[in-house]
Amino acid sequence: MKSFRKELWFNTTQRREYINITSEINNCLKESGIREGLCLVNAMHITASVYINDAESGLIQDYDDWLEKLAPHAPISHYRHNHTGEDNGDAHLKRQIMGREVVVAITNGELDFGPWEQIYYAEFDGRRRKRVLVKIIGE
Ligand code: ZN
Repeated sequence: MKSFRKELWFNTTQRREYINITSEINNCLKESGIREGLCLVNAMHITASVYINDAESGLIQDYDDWLEKLAPHAPISHYRHNHTGEDNGDAHLKRQIMGREVVVAITNGELDFGPWEQIYYAEFDGRRRKRVLVKIIGE
């Protein structure tokens, strides 16, 4: 069995951003040489997510509006977590609902997606360097 590991780094300019990383994951898959197996992609920080959905700008804005309704960034004092001196209580909650990781099957050397599926990195507390782990196993 072959195994491939790579870290992708991000440093967003906004606090919250939604970045399509499908082509980067495809590059990892080509680099791995694996034709049959599984590909795990996970955020390595507890204030960011990796998820799969449609690459459609309206939907991405809908996610952001929905997450801001569920867990608004401000007022910062609203979150007990922020009493530690942090300001990212909302980002922890947003990450929880959008998830930590995705797993995609690899078939014939391709990511075996359903219709319109794309892999996204969702940043909820950006403007600093953060990582995504890509782990691919198979043959
Ligand atoms: Zn925190």
